[in-house]
Amino acid sequence: MTSNDAQTPGADLRPASRTVHPAVPATDGSRPLGPPLYQSHVFGFSDTETMAQALDSSGSPYIYGRYGNPTIDSFETAVADLEGGAAARAAGSGMGTITSTLWSLLSSGDHVVAQNCLYGGTQSYLDDLAERWGIEVTAVDADDAASVRAAIRPNTRVLFLETIANPTGAVADIPRLAAIAREAGVTTVVDNTFATPLLCRPIEHGADIVVHSATKYLGGHADVLGGVAVFADAAMHERVSRASVELGAALDPFAAWLLTRGMQTLGVRVAQQCANAQELAQRLAADSRVAAVYYPGLAAHPGHETARKLLTGGYGGVLAFELTGGRPAGKAFAEAVRLASLAPSLGDVKTLVTHAASVSHRKLSAEQLARAGIGEGLIRVSVGIEDVDDLWEDMRQALDATEHG
Ligand SMILES: *Cc1c(COP(=O)(O)O)cnc(C)c1O
Repeated sequence: MTSNDAQTPGADLRPASRTVHPAVPATDGSRPLGPPLYQSHVFGFSDTETMAQALDSSGSPYIYGRYGNPTIDSFETAVADLEGGAAARAAGSGMGTITSTLWSLLSSGDHVVAQNCLYGGTQSYLDDLAERWGIEVTAVDADDAASVRAAIRPNTRVLFLETIANPTGAVADIPRLAAIAREAGVTTVVDNTFATPLLCRPIEHGADIVVHSATKYLGGHADVLGGVAVFADAAMHERVSRASVELGAALDPFAAWLLTRGMQTLGVRVAQQCANAQELAQRLAADSRVAAVYYPGLAAHPGHETARKLLTGGYGGVLAFELTGGRPAGKAFAEAVRLASLAPSLGDVKTLVTHAASVSHRKLSAEQLARAGIGEGLIRVSVGIEDVDDLWEDMRQALDATEHG
C-alpha cells in the first residue's frame, strides 16, 4: 500500500462520510471522482536498480500484480482508513486473507486460542494446522474472559475472535480480551466481517489485526469475491504481505475496483440492514411459531450488554431464529420464502436465508448441533435493504408454511 499523491478525505469525517470519498490520484487540473481501474499486472522500468529495489519491497514502486497494483492499493487504503489501521493487504477471498495471515504468524509448536464458534472455513484451517503442523488450538467462550486468560500459555501466539459470531450473534468483548492477550505478548486477530468498520473498529479496542471477507458487506452486492487484513502496525503488515506474495494470495484489480465502488454505499446499506434486522427480530420474537430469536440488538440476548458498549450505529444485519416446529419447519420455511432467497453467504443488498440443520451444518448429528447451540429448526437470515414490511410479509407467509409442512 502506498499513498500515490492521493486526494485523501478528511480524517475528521465520520466513517459513513469517509466511505463515500475514497482517495483518488490527482490528475492535471481536475481529478476523477472514482478511483481509476488499472488492470495492468506488469510494470516497466528504465534502470535495473529501481527494478531490483521494487522486487525487494512489497509496496512501491509497482512491479508485478502479486505484489501490488494502484487499484488494489486504493481498496487497501480505503479499508485501512476506515478501520483506523496503519496499512492493509488484500487477497482473492476472505479465506485467502485468513489463511495467509495465520500462516505467516504461526510455526510448528505454537499455540492458538480461538473462539469456539468461528466461521467454518477458519475452523477447518485451524484443524488442519493442528493435525498436520503441530499447532495446538484451544477453543474458548469469548464471553468468558477468565477462560481466555487461563487458556494462554507461554507458546501462545494468536488469539482469534469474531466481533459478531454466526449464527448465535455472540459478541466478543474485544477491549477486555485484547488487553489480556497484549499483556501476554499474544497477537489478537479479529474477524470483523459481520460488524463492518461502521459498527466496530477492533484496532481502536486493542486488536492487532482485523480480517474481513470483503465478499460480504464491503462489496455488498454478491458479485465479487475478496478479502482484506488491516494491521495496527506497519511491521506486521510487511510480514503478512510477504507471506501473501509467496502464497499468491492476491486480489484481482477489477475485483478491487468493484469492492472500492461497493464500499461507497456501505454507510447507507449497513444502516438500513441494521434497522431492518432489529425490526424483524422484534416481530419474530412476538410470533408463536418462533421459539427463540438470536440477535444482539434484543435486550434478552446474552451478548446485548457487550454489544451495546462495543457496537456503534446498530447490531448488524444478521439474525437467526429457532422454529417451534423443528427440522421439518426449518426446511419448509427456507423453501417457502419468495422475496428472500435460499442462499449461502451474507451482507448482500438482498435478503438471504438458510436452514442450518439441512444446509450449512448438515454434517452435524443432532447431538453435535445441540452442543453447538444450534437447534434443528434454526433459520439464519442475512437481512437486505428491502422495505421491512415486504420482508415481514414474506416471512409471515413462510411461517404459515411451517404449519402445514
Ligand atoms: C464468508 C466468511 C469468511 C470467508 O470469506 P470468503 O470471502 O468466502 O473466502 C470468513 N469469515 C467470515 C465471518 C465469513 O462470513
